[in-house]
Amino acid sequence: MTEYDKLITSWKSRRSAGETYESIARSYPAEITRAHVYKIMKGWEPDAVHLRQALGLPTYKPAPVCKCGEVHTTKRCTKNTARKAADLFSLPVAELRRRLEEREEV
Ligand SMILES: [Zn+2]
Repeated sequence: MTEYDKLITSWKSRRSAGETYESIARSYPAEITRAHVYKIMKGWEPDAVHLRQALGLPTYKPAPVCKCGEVHTTKRCTKNTARKAADLFSLPVAELRRRLEEREEV
């Protein structure tokens, strides 16, 4: 669980205990407004360092994890995902025909 998730969890319990967005915001430095609390609870994680520090979050967001499960420094996945070409000769004829007719990659 990240610091951000912990923050949301604690705010959710404060909300269900009857606290308002306003009163949660008031327990943080003045730059945190009730709109910040609302947006953060709806899933927005602030990038701005001054907001993150005011909330007690790590200065930078954790790097997003790729769908392959690794963190990359590039926008594209660099994991070797080269697909092996299917062995067309070992495919049953009906299956090969279906793939070709449906223009599925083989
Ligand atoms: Zn990847």
